[in-house]
Amino acid sequence: MAYPQLVIDSAAIAENAASIVRRCGQCGIAVAGVTKGMSAQPALAQVMKEAGCAWLADSRLVNVVRLREAGLEGPFLLLRIPMDDEIDDVVDLVDVVLVSMTETIERLDQACRDRSRTLDTLAMIDLGDLREGFWPDEVECLAQTYRRCRRVRCLGVGVNFGCFGGVQPTAENGKKLVAVAAQLSSLLGSSLEILSGGATSSLALLEEGIMPQEINQLRIGEALLLGSDVSHNRFIPWLRNDTMIFQGQVVEVRRKPSRPIGIIGADAFGNVPVFEDRGRRLRAIVAAGRQDIRPEGLRPLLPGVEILGASSDHLLLDVEACRPAVKLGDVISFGVDYGAMLAATTSHYVEVKIR
Ligand SMILES: *Cc1c(COP(=O)(O)O)cnc(C)c1O
Repeated sequence: MAYPQLVIDSAAIAENAASIVRRCGQCGIAVAGVTKGMSAQPALAQVMKEAGCAWLADSRLVNVVRLREAGLEGPFLLLRIPMDDEIDDVVDLVDVVLVSMTETIERLDQACRDRSRTLDTLAMIDLGDLREGFWPDEVECLAQTYRRCRRVRCLGVGVNFGCFGGVQPTAENGKKLVAVAAQLSSLLGSSLEILSGGATSSLALLEEGIMPQEINQLRIGEALLLGSDVSHNRFIPWLRNDTMIFQGQVVEVRRKPSRPIGIIGADAFGNVPVFEDRGRRLRAIVAAGRQDIRPEGLRPLLPGVEILGASSDHLLLDVEACRPAVKLGDVISFGVDYGAMLAATTSHYVEVKIR
């Protein structure tokens, strides 16, 4: 047994994938299963494909390599606009890539020419979230670039919501994407195959029945892997949210004062902690810390456990209210949010177990 560990229930993820594919399919939407949240575990990518995800999507080429080496066939969608450094590899390794700079399209075109290849792209449009994307008024210049770069095909357009600016998808900004797509399509003189309307946060439009009908792709990670939608601060009621648990082992149990003794300066991460005095309380240390998880993203599954904080390697819990009392050697389980899943699956120190 090696703790800490992240135990993933692949059957629960299969159920989520099937529910999402079915629900999206009813609205004419194909699903790109996003694997980056769990470091592209091949077994889970396989589950996504089997459930009917039309693409496997990841932000990192190393993850695409990992999936290819495990025998997955894609098609692969690269979610992060490429670095100059990886242009050649993009052409070799992925089927569709997101782009947001005309220079990148030109470089991809050159790399395609060198290899006698073609490449499909989705042009990202920034509708206010202010992460990547062309401004809607740059569409003419974008169309000119595509017309010049014959080996790079414009498969369609895409948008992000709730990634940097926290801007939520609405029917209005969905329609803006549709309008930009129409303009680009008429400038190119050909129809666009894909209108990619966002990520997990866009499922809310589907549920409310206000998704513009031209939108025909969503790129879904969080909902599929965790059954949650952090941008709307909710568990999605028609999905399973018990897909994975983080487990760590207790290495100290002792009753201690709830306020530190002495002059309080900054903690190991430069924050000055504030403590409420609740008297002496039973607390436990779990052997896991910021090198393994994001403590703010853990939900204790054992009633009575409160998370007090964490340093690099120690997770401090108040366990005064737990019955029976927590003992040395106990294994404590937590639900995880997206950030905690990301940290656990990218940490060298956490064993990922897929059941
Ligand atoms: C990560 C990512 C997604 C998936 O987001 P979720 O909220 O996990 O569904 C979609 N599109 C892009 C461009 C991404 O980087």
